[in-house]
Amino acid sequence: MSDPQQGSEQIVSNWQRLLAEVNEAATKAGREPASVRVVGVSKYVDAATTKLLRQAGCQELGESRPQALWDKAAALENLDCHWHMIGSLQRNKVRRTVGLVTLIHSVDSQRLAEAIAAAAAETPAGQVAGLVEVNISGDTNKHGFAPAELLPALEQMAPLGGLAIKGLMTMASQGSSPEQAQSEFAQLRQLRDSLREQGLPAGISLNELSMGMSGDFPQAIAEGATIIRVGSRLFSHQPDT
Ligand SMILES: *Cc1c(COP(=O)(O)O)cnc(C)c1O
Repeated sequence: MSDPQQGSEQIVSNWQRLLAEVNEAATKAGREPASVRVVGVSKYVDAATTKLLRQAGCQELGESRPQALWDKAAALENLDCHWHMIGSLQRNKVRRTVGLVTLIHSVDSQRLAEAIAAAAAETPAGQVAGLVEVNISGDTNKHGFAPAELLPALEQMAPLGGLAIKGLMTMASQGSSPEQAQSEFAQLRQLRDSLREQGLPAGISLNELSMGMSGDFPQAIAEGATIIRVGSRLFSHQPDT
């Protein structure tokens, strides 16, 4: 995916174009463009190329592997980046991760939630924000809670002082068309809305919906995504329109 020769020019142009398309999708959906946060997923590229993306204006950066996040957070330490952990987080990597990130998108078990809360309680902030990962499609090899497990899970997480649950995250099924992805994103939003109607546990808000990637972010924005996670198209040549 990463092209070692790619220059900052291409990254700047890809970033600008992504923002323009996000604005267009939001406007079309009758939403404020500022209501959609764009996380640039830097997992395909090295720290030097990630730095180019940061310098192009992308302040929210996502990594799916803890070790890569630690390394890049150190390499870009003075650039005021906001790091997002978007991939599966093993419990033995929680301690080093919690103090570095602004949001953990991939809270996918109660044991992980407890480990995150305990570790975050010892950081200066005393707390970290997280999203609960939901397996909307029921794909057996995907992480996340089944929709029916979600309310009991939120009830168990609510008392954890070190972990503030802010919303839900999902990934569309592998190889799904944008239309199929859109129906899964709609299901995540409907699930959130129905939990709200049933009454959320005290201390939990589900304002954030993290959904949509390179191939389906306009559909996610149409369904209410507040955070999109876009990687490959920031680093590949985009044909002229
Ligand atoms: C890699 C990854 C992304 C970005 O996907 P692209 O299709 O490259 O935009 C988003 N979310 C997660 C969890 C990822 O692992």
